[in-house]
Amino acid sequence: MVGADRLATAVAGLRGQLSDSAQAASATTSVATSAIADPAGSAVDVAHRTSPGGRAAMADANASDALDVSGPPEAVRAVEVAAAGDHYLLLVGHPGAGCRRYATLLHQLRPALTDEEALEVAAVQSVTGCLGPDTSLALTAPFIAPHHSMSMPALVGGGSGVTRPGAMTQAHRGVLFLNDVSEFRADQLEAVRCAVDDGEVRVARRDGVFRYPARFQLVLAAAPCPCRQPEQDCSCSPHARRRFLARITGPLLDRVDLRVRLRPPDDSAPGTSAPEVGSNLRTRVSAARTRAAQRWAEHRGSTNADVPATTFTHAEFRLPRLTTAPLDQALENGAMSGRGWVRALRVAWTLADLAGLVRPGRDEITEALEFRDRRPS
Ligand SMILES: [Zn+2]
Repeated sequence: MVGADRLATAVAGLRGQLSDSAQAASATTSVATSAIADPAGSAVDVAHRTSPGGRAAMADANASDALDVSGPPEAVRAVEVAAAGDHYLLLVGHPGAGCRRYATLLHQLRPALTDEEALEVAAVQSVTGCLGPDTSLALTAPFIAPHHSMSMPALVGGGSGVTRPGAMTQAHRGVLFLNDVSEFRADQLEAVRCAVDDGEVRVARRDGVFRYPARFQLVLAAAPCPCRQPEQDCSCSPHARRRFLARITGPLLDRVDLRVRLRPPDDSAPGTSAPEVGSNLRTRVSAARTRAAQRWAEHRGSTNADVPATTFTHAEFRLPRLTTAPLDQALENGAMSGRGWVRALRVAWTLADLAGLVRPGRDEITEALEFRDRRPS
């Protein structure tokens, strides 16, 4: 599997594996691997680079990206934590606050795809007709930004005639960026929630149920109020803001670990803290991911976001009650769900990895809780 230079060879091998696993799975389950047209059309922004180089070129390509790390320190910090632990991120800001820029920064900070991931992405691209016969393996993870006007088949998969994977599958092993998330319909957000929980989407058709992979890092962005004007022009009442943002609360938001409110650029008070340097940021993220990957190697995980929740109950990783007290209290008084408790714990481990600590302490737990407590309003 490793070392396939030409994508056609790699995909052919992967197709064989998919075919085998599909046969072994269920009679009602099939995996579409025929070349078909791009289902999403112009409603999706796609950023995905390819290059004829190999693994070394991947690292070079990532390292040569110029990172724009200007802006409020808390926003850059949230992106750093998200990149280090594969955590989901919510950005709330007025137009011009830079939501898309921070989503792009997160994408740039993600590591190169592993060989296995690159083959999975290539298989998806072959199904969506995005591959030519001479296309080389993708260097970087996909970045997919579906528009809220997108149809359900374009988002989830399906469509008339040949069944096609949707935007969520195109984002597999990459970033799914939902800009203006308050404009998405409830059924669209529920579909995203299902994919987040299952790591795949299922499309029921007359000839069977099609399953497509959909493991992506979710980034949501929203304006804080209905007027969508720059902050200085906004006169929305607090009540109007709360009603507006209520659209994105609920089950999907409960799965978002990091929430940050972006201040407008003029309010960022340059000079109040040392400017972040892109290379430093990349180095810290890479080191943190390496620590997590080494720690979880024997526990069916590679990042703090994907290691099984039961791992945290092992004596080796269980934290003292004194350390987790702020989290426990939030759970007991109903401010946090059980799922939120675990997700905040995952963030705390990422904060520890970024700080070079063996395990999270009270400070990391408190910061993780603060990230979740930052309500959009
Ligand atoms: Zn407003």
